[in-house]
Amino acid sequence: MPATFKTEAVVLRSIRYGEADRILHLYTVDHGRVGAIAKGVRRARSRMGGRLEPLARVRLVLRRGRGDLCTVTSVDTVSAHPGLWERRASLERASQACESVLRLLDSSDPNPAAYHLLCNQLALLDRAPDAATRAQSLAFRLKLLLAAGFAPELASCAACGEAEHLAGFSPAAGGTVCPACEAGAFPLGGEAHGFLVAALGRPLAQAPTASDVALGQADRAIAETLEHHAHVRLRRVA
Ligand SMILES: [Zn+2]
Repeated sequence: MPATFKTEAVVLRSIRYGEADRILHLYTVDHGRVGAIAKGVRRARSRMGGRLEPLARVRLVLRRGRGDLCTVTSVDTVSAHPGLWERRASLERASQACESVLRLLDSSDPNPAAYHLLCNQLALLDRAPDAATRAQSLAFRLKLLLAAGFAPELASCAACGEAEHLAGFSPAAGGTVCPACEAGAFPLGGEAHGFLVAALGRPLAQAPTASDVALGQADRAIAETLEHHAHVRLRRVA
């Protein structure tokens, strides 16, 4: 790994540090999670400062130091996503997406699929005010599970392979289950099952919608799959 490298990243979180610095949690396209320090960026004359706001997509030059943190030596904006900062609902959904990536993808292993999924989600929320819905956020989270390798089995019983009469969801089994295998499962109705299948199969911009009851079941299926298999607890999508 060269001491200085270029990469592209989304700023997941930005924390004030010392008198004028910021500590950044970055999700990069080719180095996974990277922690970095941006020195002097809170001074009024800093040109870098305004480009390193949370939710921004940026191109960076980073220098590896002796500690865990890289140092930002230059930054260019790919997109600042200004629309997110104009609408509270869009900002909340975008922050939720970053929070999910922050919790679920914490290694330096690159995951370009997850990176591009996050970029697509931020771009969509930036330009489309009506994308800021619970259903759309759940569709993003389910796709993120797929990118991270934790997608639930939805086509047949996750325990025995039976294709018919799927009526429950078992986080332990890792997906939908038939009546014979439903120990430890909770009810997952046909509408919620249909929502999950459609959410995985369609592009983010065409995320399906469903009733509150179905979305509640889908949310639980996603959250408990993560808790069981990734040992990650995410806030429910309200
Ligand atoms: Zn079964």
